[in-house]
Amino acid sequence: MSPTWVYRFDQIDEAQESVDGDWDRVRGLLGGKGANLGEMTRLGIPVPPGFTVTAAACNEYSSRKGTLPDEVWTQVVDAMHATEAQTGRVFGDPSNPLLVACRSGAKFSMPGMMDTVLDIGLNDEVVEGMIRATGNEHFVLDSYRRLIQMFGSVVLDINDEHFERVLTAARERAGVVEDSALTVDDLTAVIDDFKAVVLRRSKAPFPTDPHEQLNASIRAVFESWDGKRAHDYRQAAGIAHDLGTGVNIVAMVFGNYGDDSATGVAMSRNATTGQPGLEGDFLINAQGEDVVAGIRQTRPISELSDVMPEIGAQFAQIAQRLESHYSDMQDMEFTVEQGKLWLLQTRDGKRTAQAAVQIAVDLVAEGVIDVTEAVRRITPAHIESLLHPQFDEPSIREATKIATGLNVSPGAAVGQIAFDPDLAVRWAEEGRTVILVRPETRPDDVHGMLASVGILTSSGGRTSHAALVARQFGRPAVVGASELHINLSSRIVAVGNRQFVEGDWMSIDGGTGSVFAGKVETCEPDLDDPALATLLGWADEIRTLGVRANADEGSDAVRARRLGAEGIGLCRTEHMFFGTDRLPVMQRMITAPTAVERNAAIGELLPFQRHDFAELFRAMDGQPVVIRLLDPPLHEFLPSRDELQMQITDLQLRLRSAPNLETMTSLLEQLDATTTLLAQVDSRRESNPMLGLRGVRLGMQYPEITRIQARAIFEAAAEVAGEGIDARPEVMVPLVCDAAELATQRAVIEGEAAAVMAERDIELPVIIGTMIEVPRAALVAEEIAAHADFFSFGTNDLTQTTFGMSRDDAETSFLSDYLTTGVFEVNPFATLDPKGVGRLIDIALKSARTLTPDLVAGVCGEHGGDPASIALCHDYGLTYVSCSPFRIPVARLAAAHAELAARESADA
Ligand code: ADP
Ligand code: MG
Ligand code: MG
Repeated sequence: MSPTWVYRFDQIDEAQESVDGDWDRVRGLLGGKGANLGEMTRLGIPVPPGFTVTAAACNEYSSRKGTLPDEVWTQVVDAMHATEAQTGRVFGDPSNPLLVACRSGAKFSMPGMMDTVLDIGLNDEVVEGMIRATGNEHFVLDSYRRLIQMFGSVVLDINDEHFERVLTAARERAGVVEDSALTVDDLTAVIDDFKAVVLRRSKAPFPTDPHEQLNASIRAVFESWDGKRAHDYRQAAGIAHDLGTGVNIVAMVFGNYGDDSATGVAMSRNATTGQPGLEGDFLINAQGEDVVAGIRQTRPISELSDVMPEIGAQFAQIAQRLESHYSDMQDMEFTVEQGKLWLLQTRDGKRTAQAAVQIAVDLVAEGVIDVTEAVRRITPAHIESLLHPQFDEPSIREATKIATGLNVSPGAAVGQIAFDPDLAVRWAEEGRTVILVRPETRPDDVHGMLASVGILTSSGGRTSHAALVARQFGRPAVVGASELHINLSSRIVAVGNRQFVEGDWMSIDGGTGSVFAGKVETCEPDLDDPALATLLGWADEIRTLGVRANADEGSDAVRARRLGAEGIGLCRTEHMFFGTDRLPVMQRMITAPTAVERNAAIGELLPFQRHDFAELFRAMDGQPVVIRLLDPPLHEFLPSRDELQMQITDLQLRLRSAPNLETMTSLLEQLDATTTLLAQVDSRRESNPMLGLRGVRLGMQYPEITRIQARAIFEAAAEVAGEGIDARPEVMVPLVCDAAELATQRAVIEGEAAAVMAERDIELPVIIGTMIEVPRAALVAEEIAAHADFFSFGTNDLTQTTFGMSRDDAETSFLSDYLTTGVFEVNPFATLDPKGVGRLIDIALKSARTLTPDLVAGVCGEHGGDPASIALCHDYGLTYVSCSPFRIPVARLAAAHAELAARESADA
């Protein structure tokens, strides 16, 4: 028996049985559209009869290099007979013709990516018969011209412009703005012209045999799976290329029959904000893509009940039913033919990040899904896009607002106008930020949309192609800004009496729909959304991995805590030394010729440090604050050699022309000091500072540096304790490679802590740990652990030292080649490398925990805020990740996902 290549919508049970009842596999077999058409049929929702040619047939077609296997075609013909029986019509019979749509539908919805041909089955004879049968000549001719245009562009690959030019000319001749206003005579002329276009461009007449039309259409859908635009889309969306697409053959229903007919699209909730209630557009007397294409002014779905009360109510009820059936917000297409409602599609609706969070939280409140499912549905990318910059309020008030459109995808975008997608790509590659400005977007524009920071169109609605794609990829977008007059040939956009040319700056706010001239300042977003707080609260309950912040200052710490940090995982003390009031003292300390002078300088630094630490402790009251001792090579604090050299030359010149003895003496003194400084800088010059005198090695060389820092830490803790603050300092020694280093430093820190406690007569916790950031430390971790109260993996340095690559040098030269040629799959500085760096973490942690089973261990590199790395950290059994304050919400969610994934694999 040959395999089943075709399932009728009413055979959904059989299709499901063939894949052991697994719905996900049904979607793989039939594609999302086909599976849901079957499912709606099973639910008793009105769907026109039809069938799906499976994605397996598509793959079979590809593997046979573009030949449709005979068995597939035989099964299609059989299914057509069944559809004829169900509709009481006959394909190709002029007296009572069946027309069908041929629609692609892959497992994952790819809006507008694949092609659809409507009204298949029409030819001159059938048209005549249909006119006789319906008495509606206008409608039949309107359908015929649509078929020729769609078949011509989709199947015969004729550039759509040729057809559009004919239509534009016809509208101008007739003096109308909408295609639907063309008369029977106009349409007859259009059809003749269309046939001529087909003949001229494809060197063959438009095929009159309905079966030939159907066969070619099915093949065209299969071909489009391998087409460039579908390929680009899959690449960007991370969809596998070997899934194949299903093809759905659906009996036509006619929204263009007359004023008792309509077509529309709607979401069961607002896709921008997530608020409950239908949201969408419809058109009276229209077919297919008219709504999405944005050519005609659509009406909001809320008005459907005004025009067609019963249909409005029935649709609202079906929307509810579908939403609860699929437990998610639905995106639906419908058509009304002569007062009867038909559903043509449903799928889980695309939505903005804000809507995703709101809907997930609402669905939990409505008892549709549980908390775990809600957390699972929000992706780290959602949270990231909520962290997108927004326009700064004061700048908005000063900015020149030039237009308002629909706020379809939130976020602020500032960029230079490009009118075509290829230019957008080119400019983006040159490092410019681009706003793509188009009358409307089409599937061929996707590469340009992805290359742009924002998208602006002058027509189209909430469900337009531009809106869908922008939401899918988190690009801020404003659509339907009808005040904009875009002239693509002169490359000018006119608004009122202003004009903008390509390359001019514009700013758009996808959250409000506002369009501004020029550059508007952006600022950090406000994360106080209550739904987001609820959702992240649920994530916190699920996750087992802690989340701390990398913060060096009190203000960062306050923000981190507000975003949910459970402590500070890394405070880099050197950041405290770069202030203009501190750097000179620091320089004096570094260049001090004797220990006495060094101690004097150190004594001056103490109050600064104590003050900064006290701020951190106050912000993190009751939570751990990990303070890393001075880490970078000392020359980073000194002036550059070249600069000093220049100063010396300058002083020498001035000395030669000194007018008097007094000036000469002063210049000589300066020259002397600068020359000494240069000598000191020179003496500190290292050929490889990253691997030189830095980290713990500084403290080994100059124990007084360790001592002063320890004193500052414990004095600050004692000070805030007096204010009732629960300070929990943890002292961290950087760049250790041997246990002896840590043992030595530990003794220094403990000694100073004891001294402070005695002086202040107070008990303070003394917690001392180390960073593991060189491979040797990871390999001798068990020995190091004997002296450590905690570990923190400094994955930035650990990656550099494991790969033997300096990040700055790699990222500015060879690394991008490595990534584009596929030598490296991902940038190891962005995502933790499991094979090398991760393995070292795993080895270090396992061996250290043989000695100290509950050793606290975190990660404090930038990887701590990267979702994929967080998942690895969870699996290695780390205690926490530490990341920059703004990544904390992402980390909280990613940690919850890591836990859920672990539970799932434990169950499997
Ligand atoms: P897409 O995936 O781009 O949405 P579809 O296959 O869903 O493509 O269809 C394109 C348009 O044609 C949609 O507006 C849809 O409602 C309409 N359409 C599809 N099938 C039929 C049909 N049998 N009768 C009438 N309109 C249809
Ligand atoms: Mg559709
Ligand atoms: Mg380091």
